[in-house]
Amino acid sequence: KVEITGLHKFFGELHVLKGIDLTVQPGSVTVLIGPSGSGKSTLLRCINELEIIDAGRVQVDGELIGMREEVKADGRVVLHALTDRQRAAQRAKIGMVFQRFNLFPHMTALQNVIEAPVQVKDMGKAEAKRLGLELLERVGLADRVDHYPSQLSGGQQQRVAIARALAMDPELMLFDEPTSALDPELVGEVLQVMKDLAADGMTMVVVTHEMGFAREVGDQLIFMDGGLVCESGDPVSVLDNPQQERTRTFLASVL
Ligand code: ATP
Ligand code: MG
Repeated sequence: KVEITGLHKFFGELHVLKGIDLTVQPGSVTVLIGPSGSGKSTLLRCINELEIIDAGRVQVDGELIGMREEVKADGRVVLHALTDRQRAAQRAKIGMVFQRFNLFPHMTALQNVIEAPVQVKDMGKAEAKRLGLELLERVGLADRVDHYPSQLSGGQQQRVAIARALAMDPELMLFDEPTSALDPELVGEVLQVMKDLAADGMTMVVVTHEMGFAREVGDQLIFMDGGLVCESGDPVSVLDNPQQERTRTFLASVL
């Protein structure tokens, strides 16, 4: 479960997130949409500790992200910065897939997938290989394990990136426009892997303009504009019957 309350983020003078409140239920899929610059990527990056939060709270499975809370005997709450180790432990629970697949070019698909569990979790080679093969099979790439990224299509590379994120056994998966860099004929295979993941009960937050995916797989649809949640609700109702004028204008531009 993800609980975000009153989240603000500034880049210098630029106020990018202006008080975001958002709850993502365990095992549910939240789809984030909104115009360019509305803060969608920044929101994901705050959840994943790629950005420092300026105000508000982000909790993932009850654990405060980016800081540690201490309740003193007199009831006062003191916030502490995390150590590098604590930060790494939090981040390991959250998988992220970007628009660009950014696989390691000098590693095979299998090596890409098992790099993190071997390095971070100290997983043994044999166990890691077993896990890697299982994950690559899950994303439909059992026959591509020894291929290098340059030998894979964009859709295959993105599926390796998903398998790589899953290798850390995350409790939450964040996707930032995972199909928007792909040729149209490759979009479906990546969306299918994401649908399977959702069906397996993964908690997911997905920035995408694939409204078919939002409609079919999404449990809630969030329309962001100007650093705020402008409208949210069941995807089918928001898409078919948007309540806000800005949502209507945006949907008309992407549908
Ligand atoms: P898009 O649909 O184009 O990906 P977005 O909704 O993901 O847009 P963000 O990338 O979150 O938008 O950016 C929100 C605002 O914050 C933009 O005005 C952007 O220029 C600014 N911004 C993002 N990252 C930084 C940064 N590291 N430094 C300064 N400004 C930034
Ligand atoms: Mg973005």
